[in-house]
Amino acid sequence: MEHPCLTCGACCAQYRVAFHWMESDEFTEGGVPQALTQPLDPHRLCMRGTHSAPVRCVALDCEIGKYSRCTIHPNRPSVCREVDASWEHGKYSAQCAKARALHGLPELTPADWPWFTASNDGDGNPDDNGSDNNPSSPPSPPIAA
Ligand code: SF4
Ligand code: SF4
Repeated sequence: MEHPCLTCGACCAQYRVAFHWMESDEFTEGGVPQALTQPLDPHRLCMRGTHSAPVRCVALDCEIGKYSRCTIHPNRPSVCREVDASWEHGKYSAQCAKARALHGLPELTPADWPWFTASNDGDGNPDDNGSDNNPSSPPSPPIAA
């Protein structure tokens, strides 16, 4: 089973992705590519494509519900790193659920994370995200401004 975000991408096509201008690669090495951003206010930038509806982040490579990749994953904004998919770490996420619902996808449940359960974990450490049953690399987290 793949990580659920890798067949989703709904949050990257739902919320404004805003962050402090210091995060851009103009000011921080390895930061968010400045060319993919636009000014939001005196203190913040946002990802192009997320300023106003219809939202779709310019860095998103995705057909929602089929596949999804963040093309700047190692350099994505902090807000994109902070939002967990529902139940990824044992908690419901209203942001994830809302984005999925608005794009016609069902809410995630704990059953979508079988590699986090003891019965599916070969070393007996359910949430270790370690070497035995964890999925392919994590996806592109979502956002909100
Ligand atoms: S966090 Fe939720 S809405 Fe965002 S890509 Fe993952 S599953 Fe989809
Ligand atoms: S994770 Fe990537 S594609 Fe998604 S909103 Fe953030 S920068 Fe855009």
